[in-house]
Amino acid sequence: MTSGEEREAAGGLHGMSAEEFRRAGHGLIDWIAEYLEGVEGRRVMPEVRPGSLYDALPGEAPERGEAWESIARDVDALIMPSVTHWQSPDFHGFFPCNNSYPSVLGELLSAGLGINGFLWQCSPAITELEMRVMNWLGKAVGLPGEFLFAERHAEAAACVTREAGAGGGGGVIHGTASEAVLTAMVAARHRVERGGAGGEGALTVYASSQAHSSVTKAAMVAGVGREGVRLIGVDGSLAMRADELERTMRADIAAGRRPMLVCATVGTTSTGAVDPVGAVARAARRAAASAREISGAGAVPGAGAGAGAGGVWVHVDAAFAGAACVCPEHRWLLEGVEEADSFNFNPHKWLLTNFDCSAFWTRDARALSESLSINPEYLRNKASEAREVVDYRDWQVPLGRRFRALKLWFVMRRFGLEGLRAHVREHVRLGELFEGLARGDERFEVPTPRLLSLVCVRLRAGDEATARVLERANASGRGLFTGSVVPIGAGGENRRVIRVAIGATRTRERHVRAAWELLSKAAE
Ligand code: PLP
Repeated sequence: MTSGEEREAAGGLHGMSAEEFRRAGHGLIDWIAEYLEGVEGRRVMPEVRPGSLYDALPGEAPERGEAWESIARDVDALIMPSVTHWQSPDFHGFFPCNNSYPSVLGELLSAGLGINGFLWQCSPAITELEMRVMNWLGKAVGLPGEFLFAERHAEAAACVTREAGAGGGGGVIHGTASEAVLTAMVAARHRVERGGAGGEGALTVYASSQAHSSVTKAAMVAGVGREGVRLIGVDGSLAMRADELERTMRADIAAGRRPMLVCATVGTTSTGAVDPVGAVARAARRAAASAREISGAGAVPGAGAGAGAGGVWVHVDAAFAGAACVCPEHRWLLEGVEEADSFNFNPHKWLLTNFDCSAFWTRDARALSESLSINPEYLRNKASEAREVVDYRDWQVPLGRRFRALKLWFVMRRFGLEGLRAHVREHVRLGELFEGLARGDERFEVPTPRLLSLVCVRLRAGDEATARVLERANASGRGLFTGSVVPIGAGGENRRVIRVAIGATRTRERHVRAAWELLSKAAE
């Protein structure tokens, strides 16, 4: 044996021999199962000072490879004390970030296959499974057919790659909702610029004052800038006011600006407010028509018959709430989506699929690929040139992409739509239960409408008392909640609330009752 072969036999070049990998892998699967089965007993937030892990880790990487056992020991000794347990059933902060055994297996298989699927040619399975699974999921949440790929592959590929007219529809898996809104914004900018309507005025983006900060961030990245974002006022339920949107857009157009995208939120982060998507799209369309009257231009070229709002792109951000649409009784959330250009929600929030998995659909896929396509010589290939395939590199900002569809496929097959609906319904029931408990205690109020399993509460005693209760409850380690500040009441004064976001995979009734006990005791 040469020294290289000896090294290889010992697993040197692969980090481990296959035998060692099997042993370590089985051990790690056991560890994960034990962790998830026992996560309930752990403090949700670690009690560590900032820097404790950083300072405990050596300053230099090891020169010589270490034994797996030693690395694994350090997971317990070093890493775990600083872990926040998002999979704890007592985690009610931010929004949930579900995982499940089938999804973890999908992630593992994706890592094992080690594919980078930016072109169809890179590995047909990654693209075609994603197309099919995105159609499954789109149908499962009740999206209109225009957002889906055609049923036959040849037609699906032709629809989204052909040259003339607006593109057909389809779905893609992004990493996050932030990437989804950025992608929509880039496509929107392209469409407005391709249309040429409205001259050279500053491109402008609209969302409610309650929209997620990712809209403003996307505008900053896309070159629109913070100053190009208009945050529209909200009504008593904290939903965007379509009349104010229309007025603002018209005033902007009259001042020479060019509206390019409106982001409607279905389930805002702070309180779960639902913007009226149809009314928002129609307001945007009316305002956009006024721009064409001013400029004397006709319809915006390339903005297809069904396209959002007369060339202004309407994006629907349903990052959390979209998952609930697997249940027909929650599909009202999608009212008006047929007037939008794109729709996004995160299965990694509340649909049992571990981070990252953000589902994005558009009815105008060609606007995406036209705005994001680059074609250097080293990426050219026959299938792409013949327009026989979907190349997902053209549907996202990065080139490289993971095999995320596997975990979604595993989840959808293992749970079935029935299982997904049961998951959502149980948490909505628990949201109702929590709301009832809070309403039954005169020290508390529920100042904004509950959406599904997201409930906001506050102390009638005021902001300070509310902040104190949040602090105490989180410090106990027996639950995790996050706060926000939102305009409440007739005067719309900013008030502090505690968000109780129920939806962790393992959260059951006893955890929700315990969460209420915790907040209630903290208020004493
Ligand atoms: N939109 C809404 C309504 C959200 O609540 C969130 C995060 O919670 C986001 C967007 C951003 O999500 P992501 O972390 O996937 O970018």
